[in-house]
Amino acid sequence: MSVYDTNNIFAKILRGEIPSHRVYEDDATIAFMDVMPQAEGHILVVPKAASRNLLDADATSLPALITAVQKIAVAAKEAFDADGVTIMQFNEAPAGQSVFHLHFHVIPRRDGIPLKP
Ligand code: 5GP
Repeated sequence: MSVYDTNNIFAKILRGEIPSHRVYEDDATIAFMDVMPQAEGHILVVPKAASRNLLDADATSLPALITAVQKIAVAAKEAFDADGVTIMQFNEAPAGQSVFHLHFHVIPRRDGIPLKP
């Protein structure tokens, strides 16, 4: 069974205990810039509700979350004059998750520029 650690980094950002560069907020969601961007304009979209990842998220909260992801992706593409947008989401460490609070990566992409590792 997956466990939610209330001291994960994004929980601390949500509580305002550590700083972040916030670019969006609504009743259920915040978004802020990734500290180690894989491309210019890399944004993390994070629901306020506690869930470890998509696998244990409350399904009723997902339409609002994906709507926020879409809104932020459209805005980021425009703001960073991008040619496309990569959206990524990882569940558990073997799948690439390193912070265990549900989040989506929104990454503006430019022609011919690969993601940084
Ligand atoms: P994951 O691998 O869990 O999908 O992605 C976690 C992301 O959180 C990584 O892209 C990493 O750069 C980012 N990150 C880790 N710690 C912090 C932090 O303290 N502040 C911000 N803004 N991003 C962080």
